[in-house]
Amino acid sequence: MLEDNTLCKLESKILKVIINKILKAIELASKGEDGVVLLDTKESITELISNMRKNLIKDISISVEAEKTTLFQIQSTFHPFINSLRTSINDLKEELQSKFSNSEDVSEVLNKLPVKPQDELFNRVFGCGKQCPFCKVPCEAGGKEHKQHHAAVHRPQGLGEYRNVQTEKLVETLCTTDVHSQRKFKNTDTKWECHPYKDYTKFYPDWHIPPDPTIEASDYWKYVLVQYNDRFAEEYKAKPADVPKAWTRITQDQALKGLNDAFNIKSRQTS
Ligand SMILES: [Zn+2]
Ligand SMILES: [Zn+2]
Repeated sequence: MLEDNTLCKLESKILKVIINKILKAIELASKGEDGVVLLDTKESITELISNMRKNLIKDISISVEAEKTTLFQIQSTFHPFINSLRTSINDLKEELQSKFSNSEDVSEVLNKLPVKPQDELFNRVFGCGKQCPFCKVPCEAGGKEHKQHHAAVHRPQGLGEYRNVQTEKLVETLCTTDVHSQRKFKNTDTKWECHPYKDYTKFYPDWHIPPDPTIEASDYWKYVLVQYNDRFAEEYKAKPADVPKAWTRITQDQALKGLNDAFNIKSRQTS
């Protein structure tokens, strides 16, 4: 029931914004360029509608054809017309509002929407399909057209199969930490030559990896590495990472909180 209530609130909020925009557009359109209310003639209605179309062009498209047909049918003069218009907008608002309160179940509402929130969410999470060259976190930049790939939270690089060539141990450091350090990396892209993480853009110019000296972020992924260190090592045919002692004290709750904080999700208890 919590979801239903939230959805109803969201619908009402959006409705309020739309209605206010329409009312404001009527207000503006009802006056001529001199700021004086249009004359009480039939012609003023044509002017009102045409002004409204201009004012609402970004939000609602009113076709010229529909405008002509409607105007042809109107026999009243300006003042009674604008009063009826305001009344019908308010009636429409009340009607929609009551529909939202008796809303059907959430999935039914979502299915009726022209833009499906679940698809938008998926696209956001799926991003452009590119992965961080070090930790393999997927790019989170919206849509496909962006100059640089980025992600809110990077992971210990071992999760992306990075290992120390000599020791075969998975690398536990985060890419965000390493690009702030003097450390170096090598891989097929560098033709196995050591290259400073700091200058990663030489090889990966389309990635933005923000240097982070705090090492506090990514509690979730540190927790994942600690919990599944052996299994990752087995899967990647490497040796488990040397995880810092402090990471082993991260609890499941802290890990989940880190994830919620990073993605700005309020926990259910506080909403
Ligand atoms: Zn990364
Ligand atoms: Zn991207």
